[in-house]
Amino acid sequence: MSSPIENVVIIGTGSAGLTAAVYTGRANLAPLLLEGTLPGGQLTTTSEVENFPGFPDGIDGFQLMDSLRKQAAKFGARFEQARVESVDFSGRPLKLRTGEREILARTVIIATGASPRLMGVPGEKEYFGGKGVTTCATCDGAFYRNMDVVVVGGGDSACEEALFLTRFASKVTLLHRRDALRASKIMAERTLAHSKIKLVWNSVLAEVLGTTQDGVSGVKVKNVKTGAESVIPCKGVFMAIGHVPNTQPFAEMLDVDENGYFRPVNGSQVKTKVPGVYVAGDCADHVYRQAVTAAGMGCQAAIEAERWLAEHGA
Ligand code: NAP
Repeated sequence: MSSPIENVVIIGTGSAGLTAAVYTGRANLAPLLLEGTLPGGQLTTTSEVENFPGFPDGIDGFQLMDSLRKQAAKFGARFEQARVESVDFSGRPLKLRTGEREILARTVIIATGASPRLMGVPGEKEYFGGKGVTTCATCDGAFYRNMDVVVVGGGDSACEEALFLTRFASKVTLLHRRDALRASKIMAERTLAHSKIKLVWNSVLAEVLGTTQDGVSGVKVKNVKTGAESVIPCKGVFMAIGHVPNTQPFAEMLDVDENGYFRPVNGSQVKTKVPGVYVAGDCADHVYRQAVTAAGMGCQAAIEAERWLAEHGA
């Protein structure tokens, strides 16, 4: 027996994917959501979310995504635990291959997100999310009021995070493995000129120090030129060494930029060169990367998918 053809398959259940599910669900399209290894997406790895509109007292990231999931299910979204391994968008219906089966679809919304790059040093995982190690200053910076923090990285993200953190932290140490910033000139200049930011050059994070009870207490740092190790006391460690967009299984069929992010077409944020295939959220956005902007893209992709189906008589 051949598989039924799905109206909409949404890949990813972060805020982009779930928002797309609410919209396509309310349009009676019974979307099928494929969730991979991190159901709920990156927000489930943060603690309190204070900047998602509508929650004046903040909301726990996991709870927010759980509510969004329930909202999607209420409108008929179906969930399947599956990882897409490859796709064939060369004909109709669109084909998705998971480890288990082939899924056929009229429209596809790819909302697979991006994974923050981590260093893999001792303590990093142990204190991640709520205990002092984080990858998002916009999300967690306000928890470090009047405390010392360390930012790791030398690109635009690291500079942006460091500058943002100066609003809260008493001191921001920027730890970079080379002796020059990769960031754009303007960001680098602002960072270097800021009185609250101290640069530590030619140095890498060797270990995150702390206790299970009190979280992070500092970082052990290694100078890559001299090999010397030292300790910088701090309460927060912000990893900003880049993200890896989760676009690999689709990269051959769609356009991606030099960093692997989807490159939408026709002036749209969500359309791709394949009609009926849309992208949403962090897999297609390295600039804003917020839950609310991802949700906005999920909404756009859902409306485009609805229109495409209506125009093609489905
Ligand atoms: P990025 O430009 O790739 O920078 C990553 C930084 O982390 C680099 O300084 C790199 O060092 C360092 N790094 C990478 N792996 C490391 C490791 N294992 N150990 C220590 N350090 C490591 O990433 P990004 O800053 O996230 O930016 C990604 C893209 O988004 C860029 O195109 C950027 O311009 C853009 N972006 C733009 C804005 C903006 O315009 N406002 C804001 C954020 C991001 P090296 O320098 O030695 O390679």
